[in-house]
Amino acid sequence: MRSSYLLVGRGPMSINLFLLPSTQGRVEVSRENKYLSTLHPGKVLGELAILYNCKRTATIKAATDCKLWAIERQCFQTIMMRTGLIRQAEYTDFLKSVPIFKDLPEETLIKISDVLEETYYNEGDYIIRQGARGDTFFIISKGQVKVTIKQPNSVDEKFIRTLRKGDFFGEKALQGDDLRTANIIVDDPEGVSCLVIDRETFNQLISGLDEIRTRYKDELTDRKRLNEEFENLRLSELRVIATLGVGGFGRVELVQVAGDPQRSFALKQMKKSQIVETRQQQHIMSEKEIMGEANCDFIVKLYKTFKDRKYLYMLMESCLGGELWTILRDKGHFDDGTTRFYTACVIEAFDYLHSRNIIYRDLKPENLLLDVNGYVKLVDFGFAKRLLHGRKTWTFCGTPEYVAPEVILNRGHDISADYWSLGVLMFELLTGTPPFTGADPMKTYNIILKGIDAIEFPRNITRNATVLIKKLCRDNPAERLGYQKGGISEIQKHKWFDGFNWEGLRTRTLTPPILPKVRNVIDTSNFDDYPPDADGPPADDLTGWDADF
Ligand code: AMP
Repeated sequence: MRSSYLLVGRGPMSINLFLLPSTQGRVEVSRENKYLSTLHPGKVLGELAILYNCKRTATIKAATDCKLWAIERQCFQTIMMRTGLIRQAEYTDFLKSVPIFKDLPEETLIKISDVLEETYYNEGDYIIRQGARGDTFFIISKGQVKVTIKQPNSVDEKFIRTLRKGDFFGEKALQGDDLRTANIIVDDPEGVSCLVIDRETFNQLISGLDEIRTRYKDELTDRKRLNEEFENLRLSELRVIATLGVGGFGRVELVQVAGDPQRSFALKQMKKSQIVETRQQQHIMSEKEIMGEANCDFIVKLYKTFKDRKYLYMLMESCLGGELWTILRDKGHFDDGTTRFYTACVIEAFDYLHSRNIIYRDLKPENLLLDVNGYVKLVDFGFAKRLLHGRKTWTFCGTPEYVAPEVILNRGHDISADYWSLGVLMFELLTGTPPFTGADPMKTYNIILKGIDAIEFPRNITRNATVLIKKLCRDNPAERLGYQKGGISEIQKHKWFDGFNWEGLRTRTLTPPILPKVRNVIDTSNFDDYPPDADGPPADDLTGWDADF
């Protein structure tokens, strides 16, 4: 059949499918007279029009004499359907044997089987690489892999565990920010095969499973270890050094544990009676829960809580660089690069929180503390809240200059309110004052409702910064950058961050714009002075609402 046309592109649908035999012949593929490729024995051709019921997508010409096997459409479709069904049944059976899926209904397993893809890897292959972006979830169907984690400031990788048939991995990048948190390397001379599931299917069918949420909780175990260290610590062992700040319910003191002069902590004391008067019980409980579980370098760690008749106490890591607010006050405003660094720290903290469906709701320079290395950490989780998936919340809270319009209008808000406040923070850091400021809260709210386009941007704000602020401060929460398909990575990828070393920030190797002067662990010179509390001790509260604190 030399030079004869086997299939003609854009011609009518053919009823046949052709297979080249394994021994003889060669054909050429072209489209609109343009040569595309040559097919050798063993290749299949003609299947697209049959599978998708479309016109022939290319022209195939015999380049040499060749023998082809042809299968008729009906027969081909039956074979495909049967192999499809067989494959589906095999996968469904396998999924049933995977412990995490054991309670899923058959129909869900079938749905998963329909969309998963089986992929093979060789010994030594990195199936996923730490730090890379990831969109897929894996279940091992054959062989074993090892999990390793990069060691800070070293090229070495630490072995964590081995995973085998029926184990899964890749779920963290799909639950959190989309960065892979570990390496997965094939550790099997026979290779490994995995069933691969995309993000959408994972979100729809798998992410809610309890086991997925609780298994491999290194973070939580880390936290547990950290908190265990303080398990037996008693309030009476703490010595107050100085006052670091005054919050809504009381003071925050710098403290040391008796007999341990190498370290210091911040102890936040809250008057129980005042919490009850302002009906903040729920917020305080949620502050303890969220901070106590958070394990992020950009969030102040809470190690232990105490309570007595009058107060609740939170023992936290101390950040001796002081409040970003104090530095901003002293400097007037920050340049573009300085603002970028601090904003990036906040984005890392938000990324951590938002990926766990936690909304922060109280961003402002007063709640950003510098550690001794000049990196910023989020503190004060009094308004933070864990939302149910896809749900909103209605409590009016925050600081007037930073609240989003939907909060003022009581339309219900979610994590997108944090993106609004991120735009406000950028503006305040770049200029020294937030964009929406009135003489009193009501006036401020009115200005907020007029929107960001009514605000004049001073000339020292660069064009890229202006564009980003305006994209964050959209009136419509759904239109804010960070809240759309790409999530918070859309903010990280914005032009204003071009060239910013995110990896250096995460590994804390990036030089910060301002290095605070901290002479020792009890140096409070970066904090303002606070006179002693003029009020006498508060009334006792033994009603028991704080039993779980
Ligand atoms: P808060 O009640 O959480 O807003 O805390 C009030 C103030 O106390 C903060 O604005 C800081 O100045 C200071 N502060 C709170 N936590 C810490 C901490 N972990 N390290 C240093 N200072 C802190």
